[in-house]
Amino acid sequence: MARVRLEHITKRYEDVTAVDDVSLEVADGEFVTFVGPSGCGKSTTMETVAGLTRPSEGNVYIGDDEVTNLAPKDRGVAMVFQNIALFPHMDVFENISFGLRLRTYDDEEIRRRVEQAADVVQLEGMLDRMPDELSGGQRQRVAIARAIVRNPDVFLMDEPLANLDAKLRVHMRTELQRLHRELGTTIIYVTHDQAEAMTMSDRIAVLNEGRLQQIAPPLTCYNEPANRFVAGFIGSPSMNFADGELVADGLETDNFRVDLDPGEVPGVTVGDAVTLGVRPEDVHIASAAGDLPAVTAPIEARTDVLEPMGDEVFVYLLLAEEAGRSMAEDPATASDQLLMSVTPDTEVHEEQDLEVVLDRSKLHLFDSASGEALRHGLVERSEPESGETSKAG
Ligand code: ADP
Repeated sequence: MARVRLEHITKRYEDVTAVDDVSLEVADGEFVTFVGPSGCGKSTTMETVAGLTRPSEGNVYIGDDEVTNLAPKDRGVAMVFQNIALFPHMDVFENISFGLRLRTYDDEEIRRRVEQAADVVQLEGMLDRMPDELSGGQRQRVAIARAIVRNPDVFLMDEPLANLDAKLRVHMRTELQRLHRELGTTIIYVTHDQAEAMTMSDRIAVLNEGRLQQIAPPLTCYNEPANRFVAGFIGSPSMNFADGELVADGLETDNFRVDLDPGEVPGVTVGDAVTLGVRPEDVHIASAAGDLPAVTAPIEARTDVLEPMGDEVFVYLLLAEEAGRSMAEDPATASDQLLMSVTPDTEVHEEQDLEVVLDRSKLHLFDSASGEALRHGLVERSEPESGETSKAG
Protein backbone atom coordinates (compact mmCIF):
# COMPACT_ATOMS: atom_id res chain seq x y z
CA MET A 1 0.00 0.00 0.00
CA ALA A 2 1.14 3.50 -0.65
CA ARG A 3 0.02 7.06 -0.92
CA VAL A 4 0.18 8.86 -4.24
CA ARG A 5 1.02 12.50 -4.66
CA LEU A 6 0.80 14.65 -7.77
CA GLU A 7 2.69 17.90 -7.63
CA HIS A 8 1.80 20.55 -10.23
CA ILE A 9 1.25 18.07 -13.04
CA THR A 10 0.82 19.60 -16.47
CA LYS A 11 0.64 17.61 -19.69
CA ARG A 12 0.68 19.39 -23.00
CA TYR A 13 0.23 17.87 -26.42
CA GLU A 14 0.87 20.04 -29.47
CA ASP A 15 -2.15 22.25 -29.24
CA VAL A 16 -3.95 20.79 -26.21
CA THR A 17 -3.23 21.15 -22.52
CA ALA A 18 -4.66 17.83 -21.39
CA VAL A 19 -3.78 18.35 -17.71
CA ASP A 20 -3.27 21.80 -16.28
CA ASP A 21 -1.35 22.18 -13.03
CA VAL A 22 -3.03 19.41 -11.05
CA SER A 23 -1.84 18.83 -7.50
CA LEU A 24 -3.46 16.31 -5.21
CA GLU A 25 -2.69 13.58 -2.74
CA VAL A 26 -4.32 10.18 -2.38
CA ALA A 27 -3.81 8.75 1.09
CA ASP A 28 -2.51 5.27 1.75
CA GLY A 29 -5.46 2.87 1.35
CA GLU A 30 -7.80 5.52 0.04
CA PHE A 31 -10.25 5.06 -2.87
CA VAL A 32 -10.17 8.22 -4.96
CA THR A 33 -12.10 8.66 -8.20
CA PHE A 34 -11.16 11.06 -10.99
CA VAL A 35 -14.43 12.16 -12.53
CA GLY A 36 -15.41 14.65 -15.20
CA PRO A 37 -16.75 14.87 -18.73
CA SER A 38 -15.03 13.20 -21.66
CA GLY A 39 -11.76 14.91 -22.54
CA CYS A 40 -11.30 16.61 -19.15
CA GLY A 41 -7.92 14.95 -18.56
CA LYS A 42 -8.85 12.08 -16.24
CA SER A 43 -7.05 9.34 -18.15
CA THR A 44 -4.01 11.45 -18.85
CA THR A 45 -3.71 12.32 -15.16
CA MET A 46 -3.93 8.66 -14.24
CA GLU A 47 -1.43 7.72 -16.94
CA THR A 48 1.11 9.99 -15.28
CA VAL A 49 0.67 7.89 -12.12
CA ALA A 50 0.91 4.66 -14.11
CA GLY A 51 4.00 5.84 -15.97
CA LEU A 52 2.34 5.53 -19.38
CA THR A 53 2.59 9.29 -19.87
CA ARG A 54 5.43 11.53 -18.83
CA PRO A 55 4.17 14.91 -17.61
CA SER A 56 5.40 18.09 -19.33
CA GLU A 57 5.83 19.59 -15.88
CA GLY A 58 5.47 18.43 -12.31
CA ASN A 59 6.33 15.38 -10.26
CA VAL A 60 4.66 12.14 -9.28
CA TYR A 61 5.32 10.43 -5.95
CA ILE A 62 4.28 6.95 -4.88
CA GLY A 63 4.96 6.22 -1.24
CA ASP A 64 8.03 8.28 -0.39
CA ASP A 65 9.61 7.91 -3.81
CA GLU A 66 9.56 10.25 -6.73
CA VAL A 67 8.61 8.08 -9.69
CA THR A 68 8.09 10.69 -12.43
CA ASN A 69 10.61 9.06 -14.72
CA LEU A 70 10.30 5.43 -13.63
CA ALA A 71 9.00 2.76 -16.00
CA PRO A 72 5.47 1.49 -15.25
CA LYS A 73 6.74 -1.91 -14.10
CA ASP A 74 8.93 -0.31 -11.44
CA ARG A 75 6.16 1.70 -9.79
CA GLY A 76 4.27 -0.99 -7.87
CA VAL A 77 1.03 -0.19 -9.69
CA ALA A 78 -1.43 -2.50 -11.42
CA MET A 79 -3.92 -1.32 -13.99
CA VAL A 80 -7.38 -2.41 -15.08
CA PHE A 81 -8.79 -0.87 -18.23
CA GLN A 82 -12.13 -0.55 -19.94
CA ASN A 83 -11.16 -2.90 -22.73
CA ILE A 84 -10.48 -6.19 -21.08
CA ALA A 85 -7.84 -7.87 -23.16
CA LEU A 86 -7.95 -11.51 -22.09
CA PHE A 87 -5.94 -14.02 -24.08
CA PRO A 88 -8.65 -16.02 -25.89
CA HIS A 89 -6.59 -19.22 -26.10
CA MET A 90 -5.76 -19.25 -22.37
CA ASP A 91 -8.07 -20.36 -19.59
CA VAL A 92 -8.88 -18.19 -16.57
CA PHE A 93 -5.98 -19.54 -14.52
CA GLU A 94 -3.48 -18.82 -17.27
CA ASN A 95 -4.93 -15.39 -17.92
CA ILE A 96 -4.70 -14.43 -14.27
CA SER A 97 -1.21 -15.83 -13.83
CA PHE A 98 0.25 -14.56 -17.08
CA GLY A 99 2.00 -11.54 -15.56
CA LEU A 100 3.43 -13.67 -12.74
CA ARG A 101 5.00 -16.12 -15.19
CA LEU A 102 6.83 -13.25 -16.80
CA ARG A 103 8.21 -12.49 -13.37
CA THR A 104 9.35 -16.09 -12.84
CA TYR A 105 7.56 -16.93 -9.62
CA ASP A 106 7.61 -20.65 -8.84
CA ASP A 107 4.54 -22.74 -9.64
CA GLU A 108 3.41 -23.14 -6.06
CA GLU A 109 3.54 -19.39 -5.39
CA ILE A 110 1.66 -18.71 -8.64
CA ARG A 111 -1.10 -21.17 -7.76
CA ARG A 112 -1.42 -19.75 -4.26
CA ARG A 113 -1.75 -16.18 -5.54
CA VAL A 114 -4.16 -17.04 -8.34
CA GLU A 115 -6.45 -18.98 -6.01
CA GLN A 116 -6.42 -16.17 -3.49
CA ALA A 117 -7.23 -13.56 -6.15
CA ALA A 118 -9.94 -15.75 -7.69
CA ASP A 119 -11.42 -16.06 -4.24
CA VAL A 120 -11.51 -12.28 -3.76
CA VAL A 121 -13.31 -11.70 -7.07
CA GLN A 122 -15.50 -14.79 -6.61
CA LEU A 123 -14.22 -16.78 -9.54
CA GLU A 124 -13.51 -19.94 -7.56
CA GLY A 125 -14.34 -23.02 -9.61
CA MET A 126 -13.99 -21.19 -12.90
CA LEU A 127 -10.23 -21.29 -13.26
CA ASP A 128 -10.31 -23.78 -16.14
CA ARG A 129 -12.92 -21.93 -18.16
CA MET A 130 -12.01 -20.23 -21.41
CA PRO A 131 -12.79 -16.50 -21.86
CA ASP A 132 -15.58 -17.21 -24.35
CA GLU A 133 -17.33 -19.24 -21.66
CA LEU A 134 -17.51 -16.22 -19.36
CA SER A 135 -20.00 -13.37 -19.06
CA GLY A 136 -18.86 -9.77 -19.42
CA GLY A 137 -18.80 -9.34 -15.68
CA GLN A 138 -16.79 -12.51 -15.15
CA ARG A 139 -14.26 -11.40 -17.75
CA GLN A 140 -13.91 -8.10 -15.97
CA ARG A 141 -13.32 -9.99 -12.73
CA VAL A 142 -10.55 -11.97 -14.40
CA ALA A 143 -8.94 -8.67 -15.39
CA ILE A 144 -9.21 -7.46 -11.80
CA ALA A 145 -7.80 -10.74 -10.46
CA ARG A 146 -4.89 -10.37 -12.85
CA ALA A 147 -4.16 -7.02 -11.21
CA ILE A 148 -4.63 -8.42 -7.69
CA VAL A 149 -2.10 -11.27 -8.08
CA ARG A 150 0.61 -8.74 -8.67
CA ASN A 151 0.00 -7.50 -5.14
CA PRO A 152 0.38 -3.85 -6.15
CA ASP A 153 0.80 -0.86 -3.87
CA VAL A 154 -1.75 1.01 -5.95
CA PHE A 155 -4.60 -0.08 -8.23
CA LEU A 156 -5.29 2.15 -11.20
CA MET A 157 -8.64 1.55 -12.88
CA ASP A 158 -9.68 3.42 -16.00
CA GLU A 159 -13.43 3.06 -16.69
CA PRO A 160 -13.26 -0.68 -15.94
CA LEU A 161 -17.04 -1.04 -15.93
CA ALA A 162 -17.82 1.09 -18.98
CA ASN A 163 -18.48 -1.85 -21.30
CA LEU A 164 -20.80 -3.69 -18.95
CA ASP A 165 -24.56 -3.38 -19.08
CA ALA A 166 -26.26 -1.11 -16.56
CA LYS A 167 -27.33 -3.81 -14.11
CA LEU A 168 -23.96 -5.50 -14.04
CA ARG A 169 -22.24 -2.15 -13.61
CA VAL A 170 -24.22 -1.49 -10.45
CA HIS A 171 -23.36 -4.97 -9.18
CA MET A 172 -19.66 -4.55 -9.95
CA ARG A 173 -19.69 -1.23 -8.10
CA THR A 174 -20.48 -3.05 -4.88
CA GLU A 175 -17.89 -5.72 -5.72
CA LEU A 176 -15.20 -3.10 -6.12
CA GLN A 177 -16.13 -1.56 -2.79
CA ARG A 178 -15.87 -4.96 -1.17
CA LEU A 179 -12.55 -5.57 -2.89
CA HIS A 180 -11.27 -2.30 -1.52
CA ARG A 181 -12.45 -3.18 1.96
CA GLU A 182 -10.79 -6.60 1.82
CA LEU A 183 -7.49 -5.57 0.30
CA GLY A 184 -7.21 -2.07 1.73
CA THR A 185 -5.09 -1.11 -1.25
CA THR A 186 -4.94 2.45 -2.53
CA ILE A 187 -7.25 2.73 -5.55
CA ILE A 188 -7.38 5.47 -8.15
CA TYR A 189 -10.41 5.05 -10.35
CA VAL A 190 -11.36 6.97 -13.49
CA THR A 191 -14.95 7.40 -14.68
CA HIS A 192 -17.14 9.93 -16.46
CA ASP A 193 -20.12 8.57 -14.51
CA GLN A 194 -20.82 10.73 -11.51
CA ALA A 195 -23.06 8.09 -9.93
CA GLU A 196 -20.19 5.60 -10.02
CA ALA A 197 -17.91 8.18 -8.45
CA MET A 198 -20.42 9.09 -5.76
CA THR A 199 -21.16 5.54 -4.66
CA MET A 200 -17.70 4.00 -4.42
CA SER A 201 -15.19 6.62 -3.45
CA ASP A 202 -13.75 7.93 -0.22
CA ARG A 203 -13.13 11.14 -2.12
CA ILE A 204 -13.74 12.28 -5.65
CA ALA A 205 -11.54 14.57 -7.71
CA VAL A 206 -13.67 16.51 -10.17
CA LEU A 207 -11.79 17.62 -13.27
CA ASN A 208 -12.81 19.96 -16.07
CA GLU A 209 -10.69 21.12 -18.99
CA GLY A 210 -7.60 19.67 -17.42
CA ARG A 211 -8.03 21.48 -14.14
CA LEU A 212 -8.88 20.10 -10.74
CA GLN A 213 -12.16 21.67 -9.64
CA GLN A 214 -12.59 20.06 -6.24
CA ILE A 215 -11.31 17.03 -4.35
CA ALA A 216 -13.54 16.06 -1.44
CA PRO A 217 -15.80 13.31 -0.09
CA PRO A 218 -18.78 12.70 -2.42
CA LEU A 219 -21.34 14.31 -0.15
CA THR A 220 -19.21 17.40 0.28
CA CYS A 221 -19.09 17.80 -3.50
CA TYR A 222 -22.85 17.34 -3.54
CA ASN A 223 -23.73 19.64 -0.66
CA GLU A 224 -20.93 22.18 -0.90
CA PRO A 225 -19.77 22.22 -4.52
CA ALA A 226 -16.74 24.48 -4.93
CA ASN A 227 -18.09 26.04 -8.09
CA ARG A 228 -20.86 25.98 -10.62
CA PHE A 229 -19.19 23.29 -12.69
CA VAL A 230 -19.07 20.81 -9.80
CA ALA A 231 -22.61 21.79 -8.78
CA GLY A 232 -23.90 20.98 -12.25
CA PHE A 233 -21.83 17.85 -12.81
CA ILE A 234 -22.43 16.06 -9.51
CA GLY A 235 -26.02 14.97 -8.93
CA SER A 236 -28.62 13.60 -11.30
CA PRO A 237 -30.75 15.20 -12.51
CA SER A 238 -28.60 18.27 -12.52
CA MET A 239 -28.94 21.30 -10.26
CA ASN A 240 -31.14 24.14 -11.56
CA PHE A 241 -29.40 27.45 -12.13
CA ALA A 242 -30.91 30.92 -12.43
CA ASP A 243 -28.76 33.91 -13.28
CA GLY A 244 -29.58 37.04 -11.35
CA GLU A 245 -28.39 40.29 -9.90
CA LEU A 246 -27.72 41.15 -6.30
CA VAL A 247 -29.95 44.04 -5.18
CA ALA A 248 -30.23 45.90 -1.88
CA ASP A 249 -32.32 43.25 -0.15
CA GLY A 250 -32.11 40.16 -2.27
CA LEU A 251 -31.27 38.36 -5.46
CA GLU A 252 -33.41 39.10 -8.50
CA THR A 253 -33.62 36.66 -11.36
CA ASP A 254 -35.80 37.11 -14.45
CA ASN A 255 -38.68 35.25 -12.92
CA PHE A 256 -38.43 35.40 -9.15
CA ARG A 257 -36.55 36.94 -6.27
CA VAL A 258 -35.00 35.57 -3.14
CA ASP A 259 -34.71 37.74 -0.03
CA LEU A 260 -31.24 37.95 1.38
CA ASP A 261 -28.84 40.41 2.91
CA PRO A 262 -26.06 41.09 0.38
CA GLY A 263 -23.74 41.72 3.32
CA GLU A 264 -23.99 38.01 4.11
CA VAL A 265 -22.69 36.96 0.72
CA PRO A 266 -18.91 37.24 0.84
CA GLY A 267 -16.95 38.55 -2.11
CA VAL A 268 -19.74 40.34 -3.99
CA THR A 269 -21.66 43.58 -3.70
CA VAL A 270 -24.97 45.01 -4.87
CA GLY A 271 -25.11 45.10 -8.65
CA ASP A 272 -22.98 41.99 -9.11
CA ALA A 273 -24.16 39.07 -11.23
CA VAL A 274 -24.89 36.11 -8.99
CA THR A 275 -26.22 32.72 -10.04
CA LEU A 276 -28.64 30.85 -7.83
CA GLY A 277 -28.45 27.07 -7.74
CA VAL A 278 -31.10 24.72 -6.37
CA ARG A 279 -31.39 20.96 -6.72
CA PRO A 280 -34.66 19.48 -8.01
CA GLU A 281 -35.37 17.88 -4.63
CA ASP A 282 -35.18 21.27 -2.94
CA VAL A 283 -37.98 22.73 -5.05
CA HIS A 284 -41.35 22.11 -3.38
CA ILE A 285 -44.99 22.73 -4.16
CA ALA A 286 -45.84 25.69 -1.91
CA SER A 287 -48.96 24.15 -0.40
CA ALA A 288 -46.98 21.06 0.67
CA ALA A 289 -43.93 22.79 2.08
CA GLY A 290 -45.39 23.48 5.52
CA ASP A 291 -42.77 21.46 7.37
CA LEU A 292 -39.82 23.40 6.01
CA PRO A 293 -38.62 26.08 8.37
CA ALA A 294 -37.34 28.45 5.71
CA VAL A 295 -38.57 28.76 2.18
CA THR A 296 -38.57 31.48 -0.46
CA ALA A 297 -41.64 33.50 -1.38
CA PRO A 298 -43.94 31.50 -3.69
CA ILE A 299 -42.92 31.37 -7.35
CA GLU A 300 -45.66 31.05 -9.95
CA ALA A 301 -45.13 28.19 -12.33
CA ARG A 302 -46.88 25.97 -14.80
CA THR A 303 -46.09 22.30 -15.07
CA ASP A 304 -45.00 21.03 -18.42
CA VAL A 305 -43.85 17.44 -18.77
CA LEU A 306 -43.86 14.89 -15.94
CA GLU A 307 -41.40 12.00 -15.78
CA PRO A 308 -42.46 9.27 -13.35
CA MET A 309 -39.34 7.39 -12.24
CA GLY A 310 -41.05 5.03 -9.82
CA ASP A 311 -39.57 6.29 -6.58
CA GLU A 312 -39.87 9.94 -7.59
CA VAL A 313 -41.44 12.08 -10.26
CA PHE A 314 -39.56 14.75 -12.18
CA VAL A 315 -41.74 17.74 -12.89
CA TYR A 316 -40.57 20.22 -15.52
CA LEU A 317 -41.79 23.66 -14.55
CA LEU A 318 -42.11 26.71 -16.75
CA LEU A 319 -41.88 29.86 -14.70
CA ALA A 320 -44.71 32.37 -15.04
CA GLU A 321 -43.32 34.49 -17.83
CA GLU A 322 -42.55 31.45 -19.90
CA ALA A 323 -45.75 29.52 -19.50
CA GLY A 324 -46.94 28.41 -22.87
CA ARG A 325 -43.58 28.54 -24.58
CA SER A 326 -41.99 25.33 -25.65
CA MET A 327 -39.14 23.80 -23.69
CA ALA A 328 -35.54 24.60 -24.39
CA GLU A 329 -33.25 21.67 -25.02
CA ASP A 330 -31.60 21.73 -21.64
CA PRO A 331 -34.45 22.50 -19.27
CA ALA A 332 -32.59 22.24 -16.01
CA THR A 333 -30.06 24.90 -16.81
CA ALA A 334 -32.25 27.62 -18.29
CA SER A 335 -33.24 30.47 -15.97
CA ASP A 336 -36.88 30.43 -16.96
CA GLN A 337 -37.40 26.79 -16.21
CA LEU A 338 -37.07 24.70 -13.12
CA LEU A 339 -36.94 20.99 -12.57
CA MET A 340 -38.65 19.76 -9.41
CA SER A 341 -38.63 16.24 -8.04
CA VAL A 342 -41.55 15.09 -5.91
CA THR A 343 -42.70 11.85 -4.36
CA PRO A 344 -44.99 9.64 -6.52
CA ASP A 345 -48.00 10.26 -4.27
CA THR A 346 -47.89 13.99 -4.99
CA GLU A 347 -51.00 15.26 -6.74
CA VAL A 348 -49.70 17.01 -9.79
CA HIS A 349 -50.47 16.76 -13.49
CA GLU A 350 -49.29 18.27 -16.73
CA GLU A 351 -50.19 21.85 -17.63
CA GLN A 352 -51.18 22.78 -14.12
CA ASP A 353 -50.67 26.24 -12.62
CA LEU A 354 -49.14 26.07 -9.20
CA GLU A 355 -46.83 27.84 -6.80
CA VAL A 356 -43.50 26.44 -5.79
CA VAL A 357 -41.01 27.46 -3.13
CA LEU A 358 -37.30 26.80 -2.71
CA ASP A 359 -35.79 25.48 0.51
CA ARG A 360 -33.60 28.37 1.64
CA SER A 361 -31.30 26.11 3.62
CA LYS A 362 -30.40 24.33 0.37
CA LEU A 363 -29.83 27.27 -1.95
CA HIS A 364 -26.40 27.84 -3.48
CA LEU A 365 -24.99 31.11 -4.71
CA PHE A 366 -22.25 31.35 -7.32
CA ASP A 367 -20.32 34.28 -8.69
CA SER A 368 -21.71 34.38 -12.24
CA ALA A 369 -18.43 35.62 -13.69
CA SER A 370 -15.98 33.17 -12.10
CA GLY A 371 -18.43 30.39 -11.25
CA GLU A 372 -16.94 30.14 -7.74
CA ALA A 373 -19.34 29.23 -4.95
CA LEU A 374 -20.16 32.17 -2.69
CA ARG A 375 -22.46 30.52 -0.22
CA HIS A 376 -24.25 27.23 0.47
CA GLY A 377 -27.56 27.62 2.29
CA LEU A 378 -29.11 30.92 3.22
CA VAL A 379 -29.92 31.47 6.83
CA GLU A 380 -33.43 32.74 7.16
CA ARG A 381 -33.39 36.35 8.22
CA SER A 382 -34.97 36.56 11.61
CA GLU A 383 -38.38 38.11 11.08
CA PRO A 384 -40.45 36.35 13.70
CA GLU A 385 -44.16 36.79 13.12
CA SER A 386 -46.16 38.25 15.97
CA GLY A 387 -47.06 35.62 18.50
CA GLU A 388 -44.05 33.48 17.60
CA THR A 389 -41.31 33.11 20.14
CA SER A 390 -37.88 33.62 18.77
CA LYS A 391 -35.29 31.02 19.71
CA ALA A 392 -32.82 33.75 20.54
CA GLY A 393 -35.36 35.03 23.09
P1 ADP B 1 -10.55 11.92 -20.41
O1 ADP B 1 -9.87 10.71 -19.87
O2 ADP B 1 -11.04 12.82 -19.31
O3 ADP B 1 -11.61 11.63 -21.40
P2 ADP B 1 -8.02 12.44 -21.66
O4 ADP B 1 -7.08 12.52 -20.52
O5 ADP B 1 -8.05 11.17 -22.43
O6 ADP B 1 -9.47 12.82 -21.18
O7 ADP B 1 -7.71 13.61 -22.69
C1 ADP B 1 -7.60 14.97 -22.30
C2 ADP B 1 -7.35 15.83 -23.52
O8 ADP B 1 -6.05 15.54 -24.06
C3 ADP B 1 -8.32 15.58 -24.65
O9 ADP B 1 -8.57 16.81 -25.29
C4 ADP B 1 -7.56 14.65 -25.57
O10 ADP B 1 -7.99 14.80 -26.89
C5 ADP B 1 -6.13 15.11 -25.38
N1 ADP B 1 -5.16 14.01 -25.58
C6 ADP B 1 -5.06 12.89 -24.83
N2 ADP B 1 -4.07 12.09 -25.28
C7 ADP B 1 -3.52 12.74 -26.34
C8 ADP B 1 -2.45 12.43 -27.24
N3 ADP B 1 -1.73 11.32 -27.14
N4 ADP B 1 -2.18 13.34 -28.22
C9 ADP B 1 -2.89 14.48 -28.32
N5 ADP B 1 -3.89 14.82 -27.52
C10 ADP B 1 -4.22 13.97 -26.54
